[in-house]
Amino acid sequence: MPRYDLHCHSTSSDGLLSPAAVVARAASRGVDVLALTDHDDISGLAEASRAAVDAGIGFVPGSELSVNWEDLTVHVVALGIDPGDRTLTAGLRSIREGRTGRAKRIGESLAAAGIPGAYQGALAFVTSEELVSRTHFARWLVETGRCRDIGDVFKRYLVPGRPGYVEHEWTTLPQAIGWIHGAGGVAVLAHPGRYKVGGERRMTQLIDEFTAAGGDALEVLSPSHSAAQVAQFATHARLRGLAASTGSDYHGPGESWLDLGDLPPLPAGLEPVWSRF
Ligand code: AMP
Ligand code: MN
Ligand code: MN
Ligand code: MN
Repeated sequence: MPRYDLHCHSTSSDGLLSPAAVVARAASRGVDVLALTDHDDISGLAEASRAAVDAGIGFVPGSELSVNWEDLTVHVVALGIDPGDRTLTAGLRSIREGRTGRAKRIGESLAAAGIPGAYQGALAFVTSEELVSRTHFARWLVETGRCRDIGDVFKRYLVPGRPGYVEHEWTTLPQAIGWIHGAGGVAVLAHPGRYKVGGERRMTQLIDEFTAAGGDALEVLSPSHSAAQVAQFATHARLRGLAASTGSDYHGPGESWLDLGDLPPLPAGLEPVWSRF
């Protein structure tokens, strides 16, 4: 069975390694097929694709789109997209452009809590144009000694109810899935176990709406998921005829629970998402 890792990040969004370095690391760790899925961005795909040829592994062009669902932000991983698709690239650009205003508001929120200079501080960590994320604020908060590590940041700051969290309009579920399908890709609901839906009933509602909007797969295997959640999302997928995906969500050395290729094989009885691209 080839080893798949269909979710990770590079310096084209909030990862620490260049696209080529991510691919080389994946290859050295035994990954046979890798998808690079930078947040709202595809600028690293060309470099990664060339590196995959050099390394002799399979490559799937991807992205991870930020989406509003009710009061939550959810992520939709796109796999097998045409990076030249004009509607998708325009859509992704519109999401990225919104990040700058959001980042300024995050800075204002932190300043109001007695932490000035965060926006400029975060910008120093940005490695891709227009792509400023909470991760860049988190790295700055660690570097300036305000937090012990990235995990500490996301307990005390940048999350709902804490300084540095701001509401933001990304895009809608039907819109994101429409762009992905228009570009020939497959839409995967990323790490569903991470969303604070407040109970199984509302999780079912989210997955039903994702399915009704044309969504193709659930990311069943993710470092965010417990064994019970893996079983839960496997059941959700089987019941609806959704495919199943797997991804380490790797961001870089020292910042991720799992390294590239670290996840076990998909549970039996699931249709792998790669049968659809
Ligand atoms: P953004 O897209 O700007 O909202 O930033 C989201 C990113 O923040 C995620 O993709 C992760 O890289 C990071 N992040 C969010 N929550 C956590 C957490 N609890 N621990 C570590 N990183 C996190
Ligand atoms: Mn990230
Ligand atoms: Mn995500
Ligand atoms: Mn991710």
